[in-house]
Amino acid sequence: MNKHYICLGGCRGVSEHPGVCQAADCDNHQHELTECQCTDNLHNDFKPLD
Ligand SMILES: [Zn+2]
Ligand SMILES: [Zn+2]
Repeated sequence: MNKHYICLGGCRGVSEHPGVCQAADCDNHQHELTECQCTDNLHNDFKPLD
């Protein structure tokens, strides 16, 4: 799938574009989204890859 960005703060947000989390009630609100490397649309269950 195309490059995409996810929020790891708990809101499970996904964006096609880099940016910051827009969810006011998320731990990562206004924090940078993380580039996601998944190919299965599951986003590694929104856990950081390392
Ligand atoms: Zn978020
Ligand atoms: Zn993903």
